[in-house]
Amino acid sequence: MTVTARFCSRCAAPLPHHPPVACPACGYAHWVNPRPTGSVVIVDGSRFLAVRRAREPRAGWWDIPGGFCDAWEPPADAAVREAREELGLEVRLDRFIGMYIGEYHYQDERVPVLDCFWRASVVDGDLTLDETEASEYAWLPLAEPPPMAFATQDRALADLVAQDPDGHR
Ligand SMILES: [Zn+2]
Repeated sequence: MTVTARFCSRCAAPLPHHPPVACPACGYAHWVNPRPTGSVVIVDGSRFLAVRRAREPRAGWWDIPGGFCDAWEPPADAAVREAREELGLEVRLDRFIGMYIGEYHYQDERVPVLDCFWRASVVDGDLTLDETEASEYAWLPLAEPPPMAFATQDRALADLVAQDPDGHR
């Protein structure tokens, strides 16, 4: 499991070690920066909406709907877009929960991510899963969530309950 490329992305010369490193051939500086994501914790009373991941990484684990930002897309916009794409739902972001550094294993790379979570409510639509993304959904108890697909999700759920302890019983 590598961290990132072993060759310069600008001139293809071999890199002497994993980034951060400057290419010895062209001088291009390679960094390892976290990639931002946006996710929605859709809350209904004391429960939240979880989906079971249909694909790797972490296939079969309970997940919170969300995904990577496209280029310059703000994380909040990514969160709303992912809810639309994965669930067929229009959501309103009620409150920012927090952002957390995590890691994501994909395509034989381990990359840092900056996961941003919002508490959200459904404003329109009927829940229709994108079956390439998720095999099922469930409303799970905020007070006793199962281990989630990514550690940042465990932390966001705990923080959500801690921020509003009376709102989720
Ligand atoms: Zn180079």
